[in-house]
Amino acid sequence: MKELVFATNNAHKLSEVRRMVGDRFVIRSLADIGCHDDIPETADTLRGNALIKARWVKEKYGYDCFADDTGLMVDALGGAPGVRTARFAGPACDPDDNVTKLLEVMAGEERRTARFCTVIALIKDGREQVMEGTVEGLIATERRGSDGFGYDPVFIPEETGLTFAQMGPDAKNAISHRGRAIAGLLDALA
Ligand code: IMP
Repeated sequence: MKELVFATNNAHKLSEVRRMVGDRFVIRSLADIGCHDDIPETADTLRGNALIKARWVKEKYGYDCFADDTGLMVDALGGAPGVRTARFAGPACDPDDNVTKLLEVMAGEERRTARFCTVIALIKDGREQVMEGTVEGLIATERRGSDGFGYDPVFIPEETGLTFAQMGPDAKNAISHRGRAIAGLLDALA
């Protein structure tokens, strides 16, 4: 079967992507190709960071691959944390610290609209392509649900009333930022 490297070691992302890709490709992680590098995410856009990661794998390891970068844009915070979503609560924070900080800064705020955006950079057969997926939603006032990862317990995609952490993985993939970007990736690979 054809193989493609996904430039991540995030087990949740790998699981989401493998569910959508099915048996079309074997998706290999960075660990699977012996890459344990701390790839610098120094760009000031999601697109820039996705391209850095994909080019790193192609140039240093020689594999066709794709990489993603995700941001949460909260309207009441002027679009923050955006490209700094992973480091919202500080450089060495864990995902739960980020959720705690988001709930704190949004306490008492009535305007709770936000969106998740994923950018995927694909390098295949000597060509670079970039795909995007976005989902609109609201920031919850407290954590709800135990599925998923990251900010899932506090993100309510529009018209669902449930947080991503209250949905199963297929329901999340059907409407999520990453699910939509992966649908674009599958089109590009078809
Ligand atoms: P990155 O794309 O791995 O850099 O992720 C940026 C930040 O967004 C990290 O804090 C992740 O935990 C979070 N994140 C990425 N994707 C999701 C998602 O699908 N749901 C919730 N949080 C996410």
